[in-house]
Amino acid sequence: MVKSLFLILFSLTLLNLHSFAQTTPESVELAKKIPIADVHMHTYFKGGPSSAAFLEQMDKNNVRWGGAVGDYRADVADKLRDRYIPAIGQMEFMEVFFSRGASALTDEENSTFKRLYKNADELFANGKIKGFGELHTDNHSSGPPKMRRTIRTDNPAVRRMYSIADKYNGFIQIHSQQDENFTTDILKLAADFPNTITVLSHCLPASNPRDLANLFSQRKNIVCEMSATGSVHNKILGINRSARAFDDNGLRPAWRNLIESFPDQIMVGTDACCGWFNSYSDMVAEIRNNLLPYLSPELMEKIAYKNAVRIFKLKE
Ligand SMILES: [Zn+2]
Repeated sequence: MVKSLFLILFSLTLLNLHSFAQTTPESVELAKKIPIADVHMHTYFKGGPSSAAFLEQMDKNNVRWGGAVGDYRADVADKLRDRYIPAIGQMEFMEVFFSRGASALTDEENSTFKRLYKNADELFANGKIKGFGELHTDNHSSGPPKMRRTIRTDNPAVRRMYSIADKYNGFIQIHSQQDENFTTDILKLAADFPNTITVLSHCLPASNPRDLANLFSQRKNIVCEMSATGSVHNKILGINRSARAFDDNGLRPAWRNLIESFPDQIMVGTDACCGWFNSYSDMVAEIRNNLLPYLSPELMEKIAYKNAVRIFKLKE
């Protein structure tokens, strides 16, 4: 009842949004220099940049913190110290998928996962990691074909990660597409593990702000990050489609409304995955030019870094 009332109100607000948001000279200036927490910064082992390269790019772009997706790298942790948001599990998820197929991803008895659970418990306890991710549970129509799979997000293997994260007030970053199964699963997991924050990668590829509002209004411990919702990724991939949330025309009204309605549940990220690290500056630049200036100073701070500081317990 409360949920349907909320959705009606949310839809009415959407109808009322007649024009694109405007920037001000002050908001443009603030967006250029505000610190950013990049909560989708990949640090792969294989073919990944050096720890020094991450530090250099972060400093150059005034990205104060970065990480929250795999692979966990001790050399990056040493180099970035408090500025790293360490996450584990993506490498193991890939390893299981490529060696045993999608069905093995739900098996908590898998030896790779058993090792992961044991390591994760120790690393959480020692303060060396803060969460799990990025876990691809359903990417059936996005990303490289050989990476694609669809599994239920609420499954024994993932549930075990939630139970570990929950003991340490940790997070799980999940890359999934939006459908009814996913909605059921994520609402259940978020309710069963109230101390865990679920971060939805790319604010749920192929979903719209209404889908996100539906989840955010029901669970405060579900949040999302906006990497790859601008136009840079489409350009790199040669996809001739308008950006989901923001581009040279600015931030789409429906997304600005989502941010205004749920100011504590949205963050930013780059996702310079897949050999695209040389586009890192472009990805930060589109956040600074096409997304942040369309927000009030208070909202801009939350989206750029304050939500991340709270969620990942970062030092300011
Ligand atoms: Zn990613």
